[in-house]
Amino acid sequence: MLYSELAETLDRLEATSKRLEMTTILADLFRTADPDELKDIVYLSQGKVHPDFFPQKIGMADKLILDAIGKSDEEVRKAEELWVKIGDIGVVAERIKTRPVQGTLFQFGSEKPEMGTVTVKEVMSALYKIEETAGKGSASKKNEPLKMLLKRMTPLEARFLCRMVNGKMRVGAGDMTILDALAEAFATKEDRPAIERAFNVTCDLGFVAETIAKGGMDAIDDVKVSVGNPVKVMLAERLPSVEEIVERMGGECAIEYKYDGIRVQAHIGKDTVKLYSRRLEDLTSNFPDIAEALRSRCRFGEAIIEGECVAVDPDTGYMLPFQNVTHRRKKHGIDDAVRDIPVRMFMFDILYKDGEDLTLRPYLDRRRALENGFEMGDSIQMTTMRIVRSEEEGREFFDNAVAARCEGVMAKSIADNSVYRAGNRGFLWIKYKKDYQESLTDSFDLAVVGAFYGMGKRAGKYGALLMASYDQENGRFATVCKLGTGFDDAFLDGMPDLLNGTLTKERPQIVDAEMVPDVWFEPHVVLEVVAAEITLSPIHTAAKGVYREDSGLGIRFPRFTGRVRDDKEAEQCTTVSEISEMYEMQTHDSDGLSE
Ligand code: ATP
Repeated sequence: MLYSELAETLDRLEATSKRLEMTTILADLFRTADPDELKDIVYLSQGKVHPDFFPQKIGMADKLILDAIGKSDEEVRKAEELWVKIGDIGVVAERIKTRPVQGTLFQFGSEKPEMGTVTVKEVMSALYKIEETAGKGSASKKNEPLKMLLKRMTPLEARFLCRMVNGKMRVGAGDMTILDALAEAFATKEDRPAIERAFNVTCDLGFVAETIAKGGMDAIDDVKVSVGNPVKVMLAERLPSVEEIVERMGGECAIEYKYDGIRVQAHIGKDTVKLYSRRLEDLTSNFPDIAEALRSRCRFGEAIIEGECVAVDPDTGYMLPFQNVTHRRKKHGIDDAVRDIPVRMFMFDILYKDGEDLTLRPYLDRRRALENGFEMGDSIQMTTMRIVRSEEEGREFFDNAVAARCEGVMAKSIADNSVYRAGNRGFLWIKYKKDYQESLTDSFDLAVVGAFYGMGKRAGKYGALLMASYDQENGRFATVCKLGTGFDDAFLDGMPDLLNGTLTKERPQIVDAEMVPDVWFEPHVVLEVVAAEITLSPIHTAAKGVYREDSGLGIRFPRFTGRVRDDKEAEQCTTVSEISEMYEMQTHDSDGLSE
């Protein structure tokens, strides 16, 4: 396929925010693609070169790209000027390429007969080269492959390629839209859940696309978890009381301590172990001690397990608050951190062992396999668990969990259908935290989409942030509050470093907002926020029109807890449907609509 076909599709996608329209545009593209090329086309249409769990990420520096865009010093200078004005490197490339020169209308059209002949394959191999040279070699060597491609590209192609190498694709084709498009192109609406499952157990949209294009639904149904391919994690619903949890679970369930650490999915191979965070980063080098313990204590040849890594006090053996384990996320000083802050992994699930996909087995079978599969030790242990059959038993267990410094409990279904539902938040797992007793709502993890300049003591800094939740229904971000409380001086000073990498001149296409901040950000940074309550709001766009015409849901008296959720992608932040559920839970508790 020619890259120009892909660029035209991306241009059409950019012009719409309607998910159905986007789906049809993508489905048309996927149908016409050669199945052997579809994998790459899917990656490229999301601005990627590999699946998300692949460590290499393309993100060429602005300066290098601007140098590649301009064919002369004068053009480079012009590109730099435009870049400062427009802030979108793709549009800069497009404009430079369309500049009329010396009596010709379009520079590209007149002087390059082979314009628009670049293939998707050529783009991929250039991108691999760019990745290989990243960080090493001279500047001119690093942008050579980009320069060569740009010479043969139309302005439109240049727009998307430059955005892509800059790591800022901007097109809102989210994972869910791609899955919809695959169902539309190669299967039926009814097949959509099975296609999503294949994605959830492999985290690789390109692989899923290639599989369905080549082998249809039979091949999709055969997709299994495998060591080396992270699995999307299963998530929990919430209920406001232990009584309701036990009732909802049918009068009996397993209940485990809810530890406050970092969730880790361990892929234990015959000789190697890889640890992934829930946003699919490779954490192996952050927890070398855990990786080593897992391999040496595992009785299976291969396994995929999950657990929470928690820091423990080396003197007392007590669990330490979450902040302590975050030292392990730093790139430097890991050896010191391993020595000074021991970490214990509390294992709570097993997804695979020696050729057997366990995700469709019930909870108690998986728990047994996990218990039997490891020789427990100081650094790896099972989560504390018991089966409860009444509210009293549940409450007693919850009190013990809090006394043991846990943040609450996780109730887990033990019914026959208590499978591991990859990538799914459902009532097979229900969380209950000690915070629920103090406020009507759980904490929220919200994406930063804008900032307001501060005044008074905060003059010259960002003083408040516009925060959004993720709407899974349409793959867009909807605002829920303006956040200006809970920031200490260090955080206020560090905000530009944290946020400016995602700065955009305009409202990002995937954000729905009525409030207009001073600056916009692509949704990327996620902050934990607590609040007094959820209310109907005329200016926020989450669940707009659902509870009242012209009103959305807003979060009142939001306060930053100090925790940057760098373990979450923006799409993993609290969803609009979760906020709606919390709102309903809260109105049901206070017996009337709150406003
Ligand atoms: P939270 O911010 O409350 O941790 P979350 O959105 O990160 O919520 P949830 O599904 O709501 O995720 O809560 C589950 C999380 O709790 C898991 O991702 C895991 O990190 C942690 N956890 C701690 N103990 C357990 C346990 N025993 N079983 C499962 N998950 C546990």
